[in-house]
Amino acid sequence: MDEVVLEAFGKINLYLDVLWKREDGYHEIRSIMQSIDLKDTIKIRETNSGMKIDCAHPQVPLDSSNLVYKAWEKMKEISGIDKEVNITIHKRIPVAAGLAGGSADAAAVIKGLNILWDLNLKEEDLMKIGIKIGADVPFCIKGGTCLAEGIGEKLTSIEPFKRKLLLIATPNIPISTEKAYKNLPLDKIHAHPDIDRFIKGIKDKDFKFVAKNMINVMEYSELDELKIIPSIKEEMIRFGALGSIMSGSGPTVFGLFEDEKLMMKCKKSLERKIENVFFSRTI
Ligand code: ATP
Repeated sequence: MDEVVLEAFGKINLYLDVLWKREDGYHEIRSIMQSIDLKDTIKIRETNSGMKIDCAHPQVPLDSSNLVYKAWEKMKEISGIDKEVNITIHKRIPVAAGLAGGSADAAAVIKGLNILWDLNLKEEDLMKIGIKIGADVPFCIKGGTCLAEGIGEKLTSIEPFKRKLLLIATPNIPISTEKAYKNLPLDKIHAHPDIDRFIKGIKDKDFKFVAKNMINVMEYSELDELKIIPSIKEEMIRFGALGSIMSGSGPTVFGLFEDEKLMMKCKKSLERKIENVFFSRTI
């Protein structure tokens, strides 16, 4: 085998609380992360003509700053295998949008090289490699519905929250996760939401409770780019979403719907002002 093709699924945060800033600059979080069926496709092919990344999306770097390059470097270092590869990214997940697109691609490369190079590393080992690349990479390796703690690397799978209807709206305003955290007034976040009650809602399959109690404290970030968020959330709710919040550090906003027809009407309305509006489902 000299080629593998993998799907790289995006994520949303059904719940995201930021607890404190650590000495090393990272933030301790508590989050419920959820895989969605919006995905990139990653093809990895062995080559003798130099490491190369192909991607037609203008915002995706093709040099060593691409997370797939970092994933390849880490896998070489850990395995001692020094082989060049050609990685093709078919990008569908909006970039710098709070949907972990880059992390998903890196996770796919870690999993793909484990197969291509016959390394037989376990999922836990792959996740340990992933955290060296980014806080969301371990979740993108594991997938599903997880409680994420630490900086996102301590993952506990919980009851699946599959096949829920999602409307995803991504304004064309790339947000740097670092800037969003820098502008988050942690001292003003006094009431940390009750995550145990929220997890119980998922376990009890209480869709309405979950939808209505979703929360993302990153929405308090005082970044000018995030001023558009409340109006998108309001529109989702006006058109029948049971709940709507921002994902990760934004600017993507998603709504959970029960009724597909209402969701379609909402999509049409949002498309008048937002560049990318997609249907998706939790997986
Ligand atoms: P997260 O939710 O994990 O914070 P995000 O969805 O907000 O991530 P990404 O789409 O991962 O953001 O992109 C963030 C930045 O990373 C982009 O501005 C881009 O320059 C860079 N980048 C590096 N590799 C990739 C990749 N494979 N796909 C997309 N962006 C990448």
